Order: sequence, then structure tokens, then C-alpha cells
Amino acid sequence: MARTKHNAVVRQYDDTFLDCRDLRHTWKCVGYYRVDGRVRRLLECVRGCGTQRHDHWKQDGERLQPAYSYANGYQVEGGMDTWEVRREVMRRATIFTSEQAMLDALTKAGAPRVKR
Ligand SMILES: [Zn+2]
Repeated sequence: MARTKHNAVVRQYDDTFLDCRDLRHTWKCVGYYRVDGRVRRLLECVRGCGTQRHDHWKQDGERLQPAYSYANGYQVEGGMDTWEVRREVMRRATIFTSEQAMLDALTKAGAPRVKR
């Protein structure tokens, strides 16, 4: 894929997919089941990116290479390296002048406060 086209794909990449590439998936265990004498565990990402991880365990507890399945659009032709991900995260982010400025802006925006 030509670099210009690849950059356009990155710029239009889904926000949730980008979060998962940046922060890694947040797994929830769906359940365990048996296949061919092994135990499989199905995990799903709770962030909503649609990724599933299929863990394969032997009876003695050895964990084999997991397999992943992705939603349409998650995978990008030519891949995305960590530099591309971070640059795109920063391009989309609102970056405040200080932590206090960020917290003030979030409070003014009506963000819920933690009740004590
Ligand atoms: Zn995810």
C-alpha cells in the first residue's frame, strides 16, 4: 500500500480500534470449553472493538499460542506500528496546557464528580 494511502487509512481509523492499539485490549472472560482434550478459554475485549482471544491450554496448565479474531476494519493492510499509533493518538487528542487546565475543562464540561 502506498504511504499516502496508508496514512489516509490511519487518519480515518476507528477511535475504539485506535484505543485498543494504544492501550491494549481489556479482556473479559466469556468462558471455558474443551476441544480435542485441551481447554480453550474465550476472551472478549470490553472496550467494544470486537476482538476475541482464544486461549489454548493443555491439561497440565501449559498455555499454547493464543489465536485472535478481529472485527472488520481492525486490521490494516501493511500494519500499524507503535509510532503510527502514538502519533495518531496525539493528533486526535485535546492536549491541555497543564493537568489543572485539563481537570478544570473536564469539570466545566459537566463530567460527573466522584461522590464520597
Ligand atoms: Zn479491544
